[in-house]
Amino acid sequence: MQIIPLVKPFIGKEEEEEVIDTLRSGLIATGPKTERLEREFAAYLGRKHAVGTNSCTAALHLGLLALDIGVGDEVVTTPMTFLATVNSIIYTGARPVFVDIEPDTLNINPAHIEKVLTKRTKAIMPVHLYGHPCEMDKILDIAKRHGLRVITDCAHAIEAEYQGKKVGSLGLIDCFSFYATKNLAIGNGGMLVTNHDNVAELVQSLRDHGMSSGAWARYHTGELQAYPMIHLGYKYIMWDLPAALGLHQLRRLEQRHKKRLEVAAKYATALQPLDTYVEVLRPRRQIRHAYHLYVVRLKGVDRNWVAAEMEARGIGVGVHYRPVHLEPFYRERYGHLPGEFPVAEDAGARVLSLPFWPEIKDEDILRVVNTLEKIIGECRN
Ligand SMILES: *Cc1c(COP(=O)(O)O)cnc(C)c1O
Repeated sequence: MQIIPLVKPFIGKEEEEEVIDTLRSGLIATGPKTERLEREFAAYLGRKHAVGTNSCTAALHLGLLALDIGVGDEVVTTPMTFLATVNSIIYTGARPVFVDIEPDTLNINPAHIEKVLTKRTKAIMPVHLYGHPCEMDKILDIAKRHGLRVITDCAHAIEAEYQGKKVGSLGLIDCFSFYATKNLAIGNGGMLVTNHDNVAELVQSLRDHGMSSGAWARYHTGELQAYPMIHLGYKYIMWDLPAALGLHQLRRLEQRHKKRLEVAAKYATALQPLDTYVEVLRPRRQIRHAYHLYVVRLKGVDRNWVAAEMEARGIGVGVHYRPVHLEPFYRERYGHLPGEFPVAEDAGARVLSLPFWPEIKDEDILRVVNTLEKIIGECRN
């Protein structure tokens, strides 16, 4: 039985050659390719600064630190996200405060944000889930009126646009993931973008032990001078081997995004006859969906059973996500209970991610949909 995976990265000849070039150059740590990827990524989004890191988790952590968020502070976010979003808040000593999501996009619901603000609230961390932009007008307006910072998790949303603008250009800080499964995949890696010189400078220092100058600058200036440690930093740098992949992944992004839209449209059409049991998530108007994941919501059938049966029949599926507040750690530490965020909990019990990548074949899409139909039929009997 041929297995259809949930996602497949595309690594071309260009990536292979760039990696070999990097190996032969001898500069395999942070160096010229990281700098080039930072420059080109910033240009893609129209931002002044892009700072490479070893993950999006690291970028979020450093972004919060650069906003001076720490013990005693609160950051508002969504429970419908990957653990890393919320964990990054806890690393700083701040407390994550959840609000429920919108039933159609599954993004943070701006209507609930103001209800949870306190004098300790310092920032809002929206997540553009699956690549669908959040209602940034409303979120930015709330932030402005209450003097809050906006730091966004754009791990799913490099190509996404809100009212004609890249979502990665809307926050004070926006953070991206280049993990193996993401739209721009380099294995492990991330990026923080901002227009603020002081934020960029601080994050550049914090990602490299808190020294006053980065490793590459230290190396290529060749000067034997001291680079004093100013902050307690981390080892969160990006390095050139994965950055070499990123240069070509970035070039392929727009062309692959066109195919993402086509695959999404094919799924929507093929799933139409199943609409009693399988609800397609429709994008809102005036947005550009990045389609990192293709997620449906099941009705009247047991999601966990359907997911297990799909896997058993060679089709990779996913659950993005089970709400973060119900993880044992979060229940234990913050006393969260089921029923607190009903929209997120309902979605968490019913979402199913289907195999999705730009190059997926039509026959594989059909097999996914036919298998789903068969399983639902069996489930009904
Ligand atoms: C993947 C992901 C992250 C973490 O990215 P890493 O680069 O693996 O640290 C954060 N948030 C969301 C929504 C993600 O999907």
